[in-house]
Amino acid sequence: MSAVPLNPTPPARTSELSVTLLGATGSIGSSTIDLIRRSRDRYRVEAVTAARNATALAALARDLGARFAAVADPACYDELKAALAGSGIAAAAGEEALVEAAERPADWVMAAITGAASLKPTLAAAERGAVVALANKECLVCAGSLFMRRAAAAGATVLPVDSEHNAVFQSLSAGTRADVKRIILTASGGPFRSWPLEAIRQATLEQALKHPNWSMGPKITIDSASMMNKGLEIIEAHHLFDAAPEEIDVLVHPQSIVHGMVEFRDGSVVAQLGPPDMRVPIAHCLAWPARIAGANRLTFAQMTTLTFEEPDEVRFPALRLAREVLRTGQGAPTVLNAANEIAVAAFIDRRIGFPHIAALVEATLEASAARGVLREPEAIADALAVDHTARSLARDLLPEIAAKAI
Ligand code: NDP
Repeated sequence: MSAVPLNPTPPARTSELSVTLLGATGSIGSSTIDLIRRSRDRYRVEAVTAARNATALAALARDLGARFAAVADPACYDELKAALAGSGIAAAAGEEALVEAAERPADWVMAAITGAASLKPTLAAAERGAVVALANKECLVCAGSLFMRRAAAAGATVLPVDSEHNAVFQSLSAGTRADVKRIILTASGGPFRSWPLEAIRQATLEQALKHPNWSMGPKITIDSASMMNKGLEIIEAHHLFDAAPEEIDVLVHPQSIVHGMVEFRDGSVVAQLGPPDMRVPIAHCLAWPARIAGANRLTFAQMTTLTFEEPDEVRFPALRLAREVLRTGQGAPTVLNAANEIAVAAFIDRRIGFPHIAALVEATLEASAARGVLREPEAIADALAVDHTARSLARDLLPEIAAKAI
């Protein structure tokens, strides 16, 4: 492992930190707002964004005293404008409006838009040298090398929000980079952790949406059930910590108390523990390098067991696929992510069964390799082109995969 590509310089703090929330109406957005509401004097909200949830976004913008609110869908502009009438808050809509929100002069930007749609606005925040609290993992999966390179060149600080990476980030500070032997990401194992393969093949949408420990948006909840979430996180860790694939391990830890660990050369393992509540890593990023109140405390005496087990790549093939694309490199992770987004949306629409998610991703990867579309993205436009091609390949393959008995 070489140097950590995270800018280690804490942001210059005035008494008030200006913040922008990309994906303000979502699960991560709500947890961030909860923390901000508890310390209103420390934070000033510059901009907030959503996809289509204009009325909820306007209510948040008013309550938080934001200066700018943007929805991705232009069809929602009138609703947003009407809901903000008389508030003095500027309203905007469309892809460019999200980028404008990110470009506005906030010290700290929460990147919590779901999926590849986060790429342009998150990069816009990084390229003006902001502190970017990165919740969205697809950004790193789709264009990780490019994103980290541009963020470093702009002097941006990238802070990992994802609980496992935040835990690793915290644990890394216990030693020097050269002495790190491996990074361990923990996984809850999701609702199907102990299910036999046959039962997983029959899993329903309702069962997949029932995460045992975490309350999250639907896309990431399905990704947790398939363990694609952990696969995406391996790729995310590779970029965030400049770690080789073989230096990143996954351990299933159903209690979700230990979020990540770092093993050092001398045999010491440093871990971060906390309740399964995203307000803990968000609070760490919001106040970094200081600390603020986050969530309820752990009660150790009530914890009877903390268990760890190896992940099963046969029952959860998404993990294997993620490891393979990391080895393949180039545009393969972008294809994996794009195909997975199509597959998860189709599963949520009940157009495919649960095992078809991984099957569609694998088929799209094979088709992309055969067509030679796995080139390394050198620019955002390249990453988006690979993403676009992979999505249309996945859509084309969908009926064939859906009809397959798995
Ligand atoms: P949610 O689905 O709850 O919220 C997503 C947010 O992004 C909403 O504000 C939504 O707006 C907006 N959004 C969705 N699609 C688009 C789009 N195409 N263009 C612009 N805005 C869009 O997701 P989460 O908060 O759960 O997750 C956000 C990101 O954080 C994901 O990348 C996820 O992987 C990551 N993450 C989440 C964790 C969690 O615990 N939830 C943990 C770790 C990482 P609208 O309300 O209008 O739909």
